[in-house]
Amino acid sequence: MVGRDTMNSIVVHYQEIALKGKNRPWFLGRLVRNLRGAVADLDVRAVRPLMGRIEIVLGPAATREEVGERVRRTFGIANFSYAARGTLDLDELSSAILRDLEGRTCRSFRVSVRRADKRYPLTSPQVEREVGGRIQAARGWAVDLEEADLVIHVELLTSEAFYFFGKERGPGGLPVGTAGRVVCLMSGGIDSPVAAHRMMKRGCAVTFVHFHSYPILSRASQEKARELAALLTQWQQRSRLYLVPFGDIQQQVVLAVPGPMRVVVYRRLMMRIAEQIARARAAQALVTGEVVGQVASQTLENLAVIGSVATLPVFRPLIGMDKDEITAEAIRLGSYPISIIPDQDCCTLFTPRNPQTRARLPQIEAAEAVLPIQELVARAVGETVVEDFRFPVVPFDVASRT
Ligand code: ATP
Ligand code: MG
Repeated sequence: MVGRDTMNSIVVHYQEIALKGKNRPWFLGRLVRNLRGAVADLDVRAVRPLMGRIEIVLGPAATREEVGERVRRTFGIANFSYAARGTLDLDELSSAILRDLEGRTCRSFRVSVRRADKRYPLTSPQVEREVGGRIQAARGWAVDLEEADLVIHVELLTSEAFYFFGKERGPGGLPVGTAGRVVCLMSGGIDSPVAAHRMMKRGCAVTFVHFHSYPILSRASQEKARELAALLTQWQQRSRLYLVPFGDIQQQVVLAVPGPMRVVVYRRLMMRIAEQIARARAAQALVTGEVVGQVASQTLENLAVIGSVATLPVFRPLIGMDKDEITAEAIRLGSYPISIIPDQDCCTLFTPRNPQTRARLPQIEAAEAVLPIQELVARAVGETVVEDFRFPVVPFDVASRT
C-alpha cells in the first residue's frame, strides 16, 4: 500500500524497560542484541538505539512482514511501526508524507508528534497543526483528534524525523535474559509450554527438561518436547533441552511405593533431577505448568509436598488459570497442535487411577526411604541427552521424525 522504497525502517518502542532507572542502558542493550539475533538471517542493515526508540533498517531483500513477525516475538517491545525518514523542514516533511500517503484514503486523520529532542523550535502541538494543515489542504480529509481513522505519527530527532502511519502492538514484557535463567519441567502437554512462555515474557531465559520413558514407551513424547522447544526458541533464540530417561526410575518406584503415592513420588524425583540441571546451568528457579485442582496430583497438599523437595523456588505461572484460558493461550502461541498429538506420557503408564489427593510429607518421605534416591537421581542425570536449539537456524530435521 505504501511506497516500500521510502518506508524502509521499523521504529520500535519499548515501554516498561524505559522505566528501569539505572539499569536502563543494560536493558536496552539486551533488547537490541535480542532483536539483532531475531533478524540475523534477514536482510536487515542495522538495528540501533536512537533517542528513546530503536530503528531497524531494512535492506531491499527483507519483507516488512517477515521482519515484523520477528519483532512480534521479541519481548520488551511495546509497539512498532513501518516508518520512513524525513527531514526536519516541515514543508519537505509534509510533502514526503503526502507522497507516501498516495493511494490511501480515510474519513478522518490526525497528526501525532513527539519531540525526541526538545530543542526543536516548535512545540509538538504546533508541529501537529503545521503538518496536519498541509495534509488537510492537500487531501481534504477531516481532522479528528479523538477517533481518527488514520494516525500519522511524526517523531522529531536531532537532525531528522521519522514518520509512520499507525502502530502495531508488540508482545510487551521484558527482554529475554534480563531476569536470569529458569528451568522449566516440560511435558508434552498443554500447560507447561505456556508456563515457559510466560516466564520468557518476564525476561527469563528458559532451559527445558523433559522426562521420558523410552524405550519402555515410544519416542513420541521426546519428539513433542523437541517440537515445543523449537517453537519456544523463536522467542529466545537459543534453548537447551534436557531429555531425561525416567523409565528405570518409574519401575523402581512401582516396585517400592504403594500406587496412590506414586505420582507425588515421581514428581519429587523430577524436581530433584531438574534442580541438579538447574544448578549446572546457573538457573535460579524451577517452573512447572501446575494449576490448583486441575488434576488429582495438583491439590494444595500435593503441590506443597512436591515443591518442598526443591531448594530452589518453584514457580507455577498458571496456578490460578482455567483450562480453557490456558488452551486459548496455547492456541495463540502455536503450541496447542503439538501438545495434543497423542503420546504416552511417562506418568500415565505407571500411575494408578486413584492417586492420593492429600499427600502427607512424613508418609511420602517414609515411602522414599526405601529407594536409593541419590543413586537414581545421579544415574538419570548421567544418562540425560542434551540438545541445543537455535532460531533463526533450527538444527533438527522435523522431516526425519519416526
Ligand atoms: P502439562 O500440560 O504441562 O503436561 P498437566 O496438566 O498434564 O500439565 P501433570 O501431568 O500433572 O499436569 O504435570 C504437572 C507438571 O509437571 C507439568 O506441567 C510439568 O511442568 C511437569 N511434568 C509432568 N510430566 C512431565 C514430563 N514428562 N517431563 C517434564 N515435566 C513434566
Ligand atoms: Mg502432563
